[in-house]
Order: sequence, then structure tokens, then C-alpha cells
Amino acid sequence: MTLYSINDLKARLSRFPRKNLISLPTPLHKLERLSAELGGPNLFMKRDDLTGLAFGGNKSRKLEYIIQDALDKKAEVIITWGSLQSNWCLQTAAAAKRFGLEPVLVLFKTYELPDGPDGNLLLDFLVGADVRIRQAQKGKVIDPEHVRSYLESVTAQFRDKGRRPYLVSVGGSSVFGSMDKPLGAISYVQAMVELWDQAAEQGIKIGAVVHATGSGGTQAGLTLAAKALDPRVKVVGISVSDEKEAFAEAVLAIGRETEQALGLDLGLARQDIIVLDDYLQDGYGAVTKDVSRAVRTVFQTEGVVLDPVYTAKAMMGLMDLIGRGYFRKGENIVFVHTGGTPALFPFGRSLLKNL
Ligand SMILES: *Cc1c(COP(=O)(O)O)cnc(C)c1O
Repeated sequence: MTLYSINDLKARLSRFPRKNLISLPTPLHKLERLSAELGGPNLFMKRDDLTGLAFGGNKSRKLEYIIQDALDKKAEVIITWGSLQSNWCLQTAAAAKRFGLEPVLVLFKTYELPDGPDGNLLLDFLVGADVRIRQAQKGKVIDPEHVRSYLESVTAQFRDKGRRPYLVSVGGSSVFGSMDKPLGAISYVQAMVELWDQAAEQGIKIGAVVHATGSGGTQAGLTLAAKALDPRVKVVGISVSDEKEAFAEAVLAIGRETEQALGLDLGLARQDIIVLDDYLQDGYGAVTKDVSRAVRTVFQTEGVVLDPVYTAKAMMGLMDLIGRGYFRKGENIVFVHTGGTPALFPFGRSLLKNL
């Protein structure tokens, strides 16, 4: 197995052009009060909620590469899908508009929420996306194979009108449609390189990185980069939607494509992928008591707002892991705040009811 230097990874990443869309590096903060309150490891937060595009989030990192790819392919329209309050869809719409592309969003109702103008959906309307709302199975993320034929029909509508559509998978993670490289995961290799530099500047040695995992690109990129730089650094993905076996396979597949795209020789394997599915609770988008408490604890100790679908679930997992002695005392743990904050508002009633 090969180890790679940070400069080697940077050189490999520079072969993938990207648009300048967000403010980087995002801050790396120590969570002093939360660390003290939980009494375990030293907690840090990588603020990918502060990327600066439409309320920020991990999807805007991915879109720096994906928008570039769409423009290189002379696309005029970007078509993608997600759940009704999808962070990905909003970020895609905002990025598309910024570069003169037309965003088309197919939004699936995967949880009990009205489709009125609130949270991300309000912003989708305001940014002028072409929004199409469809019914879906509750509590699950959408399987691309189930929606493929509908998406292909939407893509064909634009082609028939003589427009050039770019179809991209939910979350910008899987190689699918017009995206023929795992650009989302590549952006998270870049994010780990950025974090590595920051940790060095701040004089800390990272023990583990914890984050919410959904479509798999974030985890695939972070895990691959950690394995390249120092395999002792654990990347722990807390699943918000799927059972760990199915999910880990999806992350592994994206990770291997990323390894190949970057020309790395790491032999990424199933045992490198740590997915925990102990915190799914009542399924995707279900706002439980534990999720609501995690939102409150982090806000009241650090002044940082989490979202109820992804980051609060991951935080709830992190808190439980600390309680169970999963990490060593004194170890430095980085929680990646992947964004999603506009989705707090449509879930407001459920949150307050639980507290
Ligand atoms: C999409 C999303 C994630 C998960 O990232 P993936 O790369 O899809 O696994 C985590 N947090 C938030 C807020 C997200 O919107």
C-alpha cells in the first residue's frame, strides 16, 4: 500500500478543473463548550455550512467541479432530483443560475411535509428553478433506478426542443447521466487536503472525522484521502437513510472510481468504509426527540445551527459514540458541518414539539 504526500494529492487534484463558486477554505473551529459538556475527545467543526452559496453546504463544493463539467460539455440545462427539501437541489439551482444555466429540479415527497414555499423549496422558487414535484416512498432516499425512466423523459423533453441538458445524479455523487467522473467525491478529496493543511497550521493531529452520509460522495472522497495521507485517521459516516451494508457498498463503488480517476493505488476495500446505521431512528427526514435535542445542544453551547435531516442526526451519533467511549480522551475529532440549515424551518413545529 502506498502513502501519498499532500503535494502529490494536490497535483492530482489540479488536473480536474473547477469553477470558482464558493469561499475556501471553510473555517475549522474548536468546539470548546461542547467538548467540555460531553467530556470526551476534543471536538472541532469543519464549517462546510459556510461555503457562501445559497446558505452553504457540502453540495456547493461538489458543484465547483460539476458546473465546470457541464459548461465544458456545452450544456444549457441542468436536470437533477432529490427529496422535497433537498439541499443538493437548491445548491444546484443557485450554482446553475450563477453560470447562466437553467435548473430543472424533480423533487420527490419522501416525508410528510407540505409543498408550500418554505425552507429550500421557497429558495428553489425564488431562484427561478423549474420545479416538478412527484410522490415517493416515505422514509427512504430515492433509488435512481426507480426514477430513471421519468428523468430520461424530462431530459428528452429538453433535447426535443433543441436544448442541451446535463443530467446529474442526486447528491452529485454517483457516476450517472452526463457526469462521467465521480466529481462530487473528488471535491471531498480536495476538502480533506484542505482540512489537513488547516490541522497542520493549528498544530493538531486529527484522530477521526465524523459526518452525515447520504448519497456517498462526501464519505468516499474523505475516506480515500484519509487512506492516502494517513490510514490511521478514521472517517465515520453516520447514515441518515440506508442500512449500512447497502450503503457501504455504494460508498466503496464511488471511492474506487475516485481512486481510479485520480490514478491512486490504494486498494480501497470494504473494511476501509465505516458506516454506522444505528442512528436512522424513524427513517430519512423523521425529526425525533434525539435529533431535536442535538440541534438544541449545539446551538446552545456553540451558537451553531444544525439541520434536522443530516447534521443533527450525525451529531446525535457522535454524542452517543462519545458516551460509549468510542474515541480516546484527548483525541481530536473533526465533525464536518455539511450544511442543510434552510431545512430547519419547514421542520420547525416537529422540532419544538419534541423539546
Ligand atoms: C447531501 C448532504 C449530506 C450527505 O452528503 P453525501 O455526499 O450525499 O453523502 C450531508 N449533509 C447535508 C446537509 C447534505 O445536504
